[in-house]
Amino acid sequence: MAPDSVSNRPNVLIKRGRKFLNTPGPTNVPQRVQNAMHRDTMDLNDPEFVDAAVESFEGLRKVFKTEGEIFTYIANGHGAWEAALVNTLKPGDVALVPETGHFSGSWTDMAEALGIVIQTVPGSWREAMDPAAVGQALSEDKEGRIKAVLVVHTDTATSITSDVPAVRKAMNESGHDALLMVDTIASLGTTDFRMDEWGADVAIAASQKGLMMPPGLGFCAANEKAIAVHKANANPRRYWDWTPRMSGAGYRTFCGTSPQLQIFGLREGLRTLFEEGLERCFERHRVLSQATHKAVEVWGTAGALELNALVPEQRSVGVTAIRTADGVDANRIREVCRDEMMVGIGGGLGDLGGKAFRIGHMGDMNAPMLYAALASVESTLDYLDVPYKPGGVTAAIEHVTAYKKANGPTTF
Ligand SMILES: *Cc1c(COP(=O)(O)O)cnc(C)c1O
Repeated sequence: MAPDSVSNRPNVLIKRGRKFLNTPGPTNVPQRVQNAMHRDTMDLNDPEFVDAAVESFEGLRKVFKTEGEIFTYIANGHGAWEAALVNTLKPGDVALVPETGHFSGSWTDMAEALGIVIQTVPGSWREAMDPAAVGQALSEDKEGRIKAVLVVHTDTATSITSDVPAVRKAMNESGHDALLMVDTIASLGTTDFRMDEWGADVAIAASQKGLMMPPGLGFCAANEKAIAVHKANANPRRYWDWTPRMSGAGYRTFCGTSPQLQIFGLREGLRTLFEEGLERCFERHRVLSQATHKAVEVWGTAGALELNALVPEQRSVGVTAIRTADGVDANRIREVCRDEMMVGIGGGLGDLGGKAFRIGHMGDMNAPMLYAALASVESTLDYLDVPYKPGGVTAAIEHVTAYKKANGPTTF
C-alpha cells in the first residue's frame, strides 16, 4: 500500500467500491426508497403528504395483519416500546416478561424505570421462551395483578424467534385477561406475524429493520381491547398519547409536525414489499438465513464458532448470532469486518458481549449481498487466525443454488 504522505501510514481512509451492511438494523435502504425521500418539503397539510400517510398506515395494517389502530412516532424502537407501556400501564401495575435475551431485558429495564413492576419468566438465551411457563404464571395470578405480557417475537441478540400463537393459547387457557404486547421490531417484514389472528393486543415495530427504512420511525399497532385499556388508564403521557393521534393523518396524528420525507420513503418501501409479496419476502429471508447457517456450520467444525440458536425451527430468518469459543474476541472480528473488509456486522449484546457476533440478512438483501458478507467474515477469520474450516461460503452458495434448482427462478 502507498504510504500516506502525512502520517506515513497506509491511508486507510481511502476506500473504494461500496460498503456492505449486514447488521440486524439498520438495514439497507433500497434506491427506490432513498429516491422517494429525496424531494422538497411541503405544507403540513398538503394533500400529497396526507395521501402518502394514509397509504402508509394502510400498508402497515397489512404488514401487521391487523384492523387495529396504527400510531407512528418520530422515534426509534425504544420510543415505540415506551409508547406501548405508558398508554396501557401505570406505575405499580405488574407486567410478565418471558426472558428471551438482551431485548426482553432492555424492555424490562424501561418498564421498571416507568414504575411498572416486572415479573420475569426465566429463559435460556439458546432456546425460545416457554409459552407453558407464561400460562403457569398467569394461572397462579389469582388476584389479576398482571396487566400485560411483554413478548419479544425475535430477540435480535440471540437470533431466536418465539412462538406467539402458543403464548396466546397459553394465556387463553389460563383464563387471564392480561394484554399481550409483542415487540416485532426485528421480525416485521421478515417473518410471518398476524396480529389479529394470533391475538396480539399491541404490536411494536421500528423503521430500520425489515421495513427497509432509515432509523427514525417507531410504530405501535393496537386493537380495540388495548385502546379500551388505554382510555381507562390515567397514567400521564403526552407525546406518546394514543387518543389525539386517532384523528386522520394531520398535525395531531403525529403530535406536531410530521416526518414528511420519511413517510414518503415508508410508502415506497411498503409498495416494494407488496410488489414482492409478503409470502415471497418471508421465503427469501428463510432461504438466506439457511444459507448463513450452512456457512457457520462449516466454519464451526474447527471448534471455534457455533450457532447460538440450538433448535433449527426457532432460528430467526433475519439475523444469525454466532458464538465464539473462549479466547476468540468476537468484537475484534466485528471491527475488522467493518474497518478492513467493508462489511458491517453486529456484535454480541448483553451476556454475549465479546462472545458472539451477528450476521444480519434482513430487509433489502439478496444472495450476492449475503455471499459478500459471508466471504468477508470467512476472510476475517483467516486474517485473525481464528480456527475455522474453509468452505462456508461455498456451502451457502450451494444451498441457494439447490433451492433455485428445486423451486425455479427466484428474485434474489
Ligand atoms: C432493534 C431492536 C430494538 C431496539 O430498537 P431501537 O430502534 O434501537 O430503539 C428492540 N427490540 C428488538 C427486538 C430489536 O431488534
